[in-house]
Amino acid sequence: MSSSTSSLPAWPPLLPKKAKNFLAQQATDYALAHGIVYRPLPAAANQEPAGDSVIHAPFSLFPSPFPRPLLHKAHTVQPVYDRLYAQVSVNHVFLDKVIGQSVVHVDEFQKALWEIYTQVKDDLVQPLSLGLFRSDYLMHQIGASELEIKQVEFNTISASFGALCTKVNAMHQHLASTTAGYLGAYPGLEDMSNLPANNGLTILAGGLAAAHNAYLVQQQQQEEQRQAAKTAVLFVVQAGERNAFDQRHIEYELQKQGILVVRQTFAEVQRNVSHASDTASTNARSRTLVLDHAAFGQLEISVVYFRAGYGPGDYPTNVEWETRKMLEQSLAIKCPSIAVQLAGAKKVQQVLSEPGVLQSFLQNTDADQLETLRETFTDLYPLDDSPLGKEGYRLAMESPEKYVLKPQREGGGNNVYRHDIPPFLRQLETSSSSSLPTSDIAKRQAYILMSLIQPPSGVGNYLVKACTRNPDATAAGQDPESRAVLASDTVSELGVYGAILFRADTPQDNASSGIRVLHHESGGYLLRTKGRDSDEGGVAVGFSVIDSLFLI
Ligand code: ADP
Ligand code: MG
Repeated sequence: MSSSTSSLPAWPPLLPKKAKNFLAQQATDYALAHGIVYRPLPAAANQEPAGDSVIHAPFSLFPSPFPRPLLHKAHTVQPVYDRLYAQVSVNHVFLDKVIGQSVVHVDEFQKALWEIYTQVKDDLVQPLSLGLFRSDYLMHQIGASELEIKQVEFNTISASFGALCTKVNAMHQHLASTTAGYLGAYPGLEDMSNLPANNGLTILAGGLAAAHNAYLVQQQQQEEQRQAAKTAVLFVVQAGERNAFDQRHIEYELQKQGILVVRQTFAEVQRNVSHASDTASTNARSRTLVLDHAAFGQLEISVVYFRAGYGPGDYPTNVEWETRKMLEQSLAIKCPSIAVQLAGAKKVQQVLSEPGVLQSFLQNTDADQLETLRETFTDLYPLDDSPLGKEGYRLAMESPEKYVLKPQREGGGNNVYRHDIPPFLRQLETSSSSSLPTSDIAKRQAYILMSLIQPPSGVGNYLVKACTRNPDATAAGQDPESRAVLASDTVSELGVYGAILFRADTPQDNASSGIRVLHHESGGYLLRTKGRDSDEGGVAVGFSVIDSLFLI
């Protein structure tokens, strides 16, 4: 099934200055009133953000035009992607080949994750695993007017902005419906079927609730004495997280369903768990995770939801690594487990695009669906000593303007673009910074090469950003004119969410998928928009704003 489609309207609609400022102020107040907010940057780099004030998250004034068939395609392939990555996570032979025998030799962070994975994998007391995934795409222009979606990456840990994007969608709907379609700025903006509701927040919270409930069922079946009177979901978070409210909104959804949630950093978990395991002797045998909580007393943890732990910065000392390992070994259901985190490595994305690999995982999948999924791949190359790897190296050196080079990292700011690639690869050959001794080609194994997706031009938006430091530090924050800035050439990245609760299934025959699925729901979306001149796409790091879809 091919769903290429034609071009986008010129955007944003022209607005008189007064109308733009009016809409920007309406939007800003809606954002502040509905929790589309961040903590402000701390006054100094070594301080934590203030605990008692917020600024609105950056957002676009208009929703951005997006072809309906392309959203449909992204939603169609999401369940297949969810199952695919769940299957990868339970396939030790595959993970070992792709990560264990390759990437870990040249990447210290992946090596540390891999070590925990190999230490815990044969001794798991919790068979269930929860994936809250997000598959990211850019629109790709083929020829003069054909548009497609191409996958940027597949996120298996800490996929964020589900809550804030759900609320930005509601904000755009609110503006459209209370101002007769943005003051009549463009036909169709008054029609809510073009601004479809985003259920990303419900899907993420639904996955966590399903895992929590599955844990309770397991405990009832075990007929074991509950370790603590109360059971809770644990969010493992970064200290000083500015994007805390994206997480809080998920917490509030769970609380509406009567589920208790606590937030702790790795260091706090370490402090709070050690005392509990001294006092409860059966913990060691059942590996029930029990935390001492200042307000609730002893809490048995059903699900560990990692909104930290995806990058080296989250493990400053051995304490964080030890805590991660302890959590992996515990009875709590992990979101994600370390295997699911490893499955999200960019190297996995590259290997899945090699001939025959997709088919080997998705044997029971309809051929059309498989083809639709494959259409979302852009060209991906390893940089190892395989024939494909040598081809990748040649392309990177000879036509770097077509490529982006990616290490095995998450969270933005790690990629090398276009003409920076050849000097980077040459410098890699002479560097000896890593403590892992390797040859030149081996060092390149830590990277993948990806062809650059070419998003369509002619689309812009008004980007509304708050003054990022203390709100009263400058008068600029008062002036909508200086905050809603026209970006005339923007690029929008679509993410689609999936929540899948699964366990490894012993293969009965060759057609077994390797997983048994207990809960699976996909949909919703994140739309992030940035000026084309910025290569990276992070919202939290200030490159992008949160946007929503105007379907055409
Ligand atoms: P991270 O894990 O840091 O989010 P990504 O693979 O998502 O890494 O890359 C970061 C950003 O770089 C993306 O949000 C996108 O804006 C840009 N980017 C990544 N891959 C491509 C590509 N193939 N073509 C065009 N832009 C890309
Ligand atoms: Mg990304």
